[in-house]
Amino acid sequence: MKPTSPAGSAPFSQAGAPVGLPNLLVLATGGTIAGAAAAPEILSRYQAGSLGIGAMLEAVPQLRAHARMQAEQLAQIDSKDMDFGLWEALARRVAEAMDDPALDGVLITHGTDTMEETAFFLGLAVDCRKPVVLCGAMRPATALSADGPLNLLHAVRVAADPGAAGRGPLIVMHQQAFAAAEALKFQSLSPDAFAAPLAGPVARVEDGGVRFLRPAGPARAPGPVAALRARLAGLPPGAPWPWVELVASHAGASGGAAEALLAAGVQGLVAVGTGAGTLHKALLAPLVAATGLGLPVVRASRVPLAAVERDAAEANGKLGFAAAGCLSPQKARIVLLLALRAGLKQADFQALLDVF
Ligand code: ASP
Repeated sequence: MKPTSPAGSAPFSQAGAPVGLPNLLVLATGGTIAGAAAAPEILSRYQAGSLGIGAMLEAVPQLRAHARMQAEQLAQIDSKDMDFGLWEALARRVAEAMDDPALDGVLITHGTDTMEETAFFLGLAVDCRKPVVLCGAMRPATALSADGPLNLLHAVRVAADPGAAGRGPLIVMHQQAFAAAEALKFQSLSPDAFAAPLAGPVARVEDGGVRFLRPAGPARAPGPVAALRARLAGLPPGAPWPWVELVASHAGASGGAAEALLAAGVQGLVAVGTGAGTLHKALLAPLVAATGLGLPVVRASRVPLAAVERDAAEANGKLGFAAAGCLSPQKARIVLLLALRAGLKQADFQALLDVF
C-alpha cells in the first residue's frame, strides 16, 4: 500500500458495490492503521496517521461484499494526542448518523492507544442505537503482515451486522469485539492487544459471520446515563470542559502532586489506587481536603481486574469519595469529566459510576 498524504486521501468509490447492503458511515481519525514506515520490516518506528481513508478502503476490495460505505477523514492523528475537539466532532457525526435513516451503522478508524477512551466516551455521550464500531491496528499499513486490512474487514462485518446494535460502541481487533466499558489495551506489541479482563469479548468474527457470545443489553439507557445525555445535549457548542486529573498512589507516594493540582485549580481528581483502590496515607490527606472544598474525587485502582467498592466511611459520606467499581481510572475520569461538564451534582456521580 502506497502512503498518501492526508490531503491526498481519495474518496472511496462505491462503483460496483451491490445495492441492498447496509450503509455505513466511516469516520477516519488516523492511528497506526493509517501508519507508514520507511520499510516493510519496520514495526515500531513509523508515522501514525499517514494514509487517507480512501486509500485504506480501496486496499481491501472484500469490504464491498459486506457494506456500502461513505467515508470522512475527520483527523489524521496519533491517538495519544486525542483531544476534546475531536471527541466533540466524533460525537456530533455519530449522533447525526443515529438519526439518519439512510445509515445503518458507523465505523471509526482510530489509534489503539486511546481507543478504549473514545469508545467509552461515545457510549456515554451518544445514544448509539445502531452499530458503532472502532477499529485500529498494531502494525503500520506498510508492514509485512499488517493487521489493519483484516481488522478493517472484520470491523465492517460487525458494523454491518444488526446484532451489533444496542451494545454501545464496540472495539473490533484481532477477530474479536469488545464492549467499550470492558475493553482494555493490555499489551503494546502483538496484534492481540485488547482484552476485556473481567467479561471477555462480546463477539468473535469467523469466516461464516459474526458470532455474538452474549445477548445485547436493555434497549433503554439506564436512568443516570439518560439524564447525563439529556444535559449534555442542552450544552451550547464549545461549552468548556472541566479540568480533571489522575493522581497515583504507590510505594513512597506523597501528597505533593495532588496539592499542586488543587492549588492550580483542578476541578476533579481520580485517585489511581493500589489493590482494591487503597490509597497511601500521604496521598489521602490532600484528597480528603479536596472533598472538604467540594471537589469530586473518585477512587479507582491500577489493577486491571479490580472492583473498587465504597468503604463504610464513604458510604456514610465521611470521606466523600466516589468509587470506580470495575471501571479503569481512565474511564472513571471520563465519567467525572462528563458529569462535571453537564453540571451534575456530586451526589449523582456515584450513580453514574455504578452503571458500569
Ligand atoms: N500510537 C498509535 C495510536 O494510538 C498506536 C496505534 O494506533 O496502535 O495512534
